[in-house]
Amino acid sequence: MMHIRAIYGAAGCGRGVMPILRDMALPDSQLLFIDDSLAGKTVNGQCVISFDQFAKITDGYKEITIAIADPKIREKLTLKCTEHGIFFASIIASNHVRMDDCEIGEGAIFSPFTTLTSNISIGRHFHCNIGSYVEHDCVIGDFVTFAPGVKCNGNIHIGNHAYIGSGAVIRQGTPGKPLRIGAGAIVGMGAVVTKDVAAGETVIGNPARPMKL
Ligand code: UDP
Repeated sequence: MMHIRAIYGAAGCGRGVMPILRDMALPDSQLLFIDDSLAGKTVNGQCVISFDQFAKITDGYKEITIAIADPKIREKLTLKCTEHGIFFASIIASNHVRMDDCEIGEGAIFSPFTTLTSNISIGRHFHCNIGSYVEHDCVIGDFVTFAPGVKCNGNIHIGNHAYIGSGAVIRQGTPGKPLRIGAGAIVGMGAVVTKDVAAGETVIGNPARPMKL
């Protein structure tokens, strides 16, 4: 049976991930993009089809990775895929480093030069973009996005759907008092997070403070 390996999203994120998939896929796998607004086009040499077209393919074992940075859109598309009985798979760069006792949910993306040290738990559909790291004893929820260059130090807990901007630095917590970033929080690029961030809050700056409109 043909192995069909798709990346959902052929925009910036997806185009940055396809070469990693090309590198790790079995030689006889068929690779393609799914994108509902670019269907029928070719992007970087790869065919793009719509989700509806993908769902209709019956002669193959199909796996998807959702390469769209927005955590909520990622969740919405995950639900749609699950309704159609489609399986998820992770995409992991060959130079990704992972140490002891890391538990990772399905559908993750680990871009080049990313590192997980030891005793880490991460939920489903995590995006760990170029050069980001997660240090020891962190607990990360579902649909969390790390933009490039995030420094997530030890004993940090991050809730579902949090978005951590490029170059953000998060201060380490302790085993008894982890630093907590709540569900749906947004950490702006370059922010230096020194204390807990409430659920749904957006913080920016050094030290990071809630953004005032
Ligand atoms: N997209 C889609 N179906 C959806 C939502 C998004 O095919 O229901 C596609 C959309 O057409 C776009 C891509 O996903 O090409 C998302 O691109 P965007 O630039 O917003 O995200 P990024 O690639 O930066 O994460």
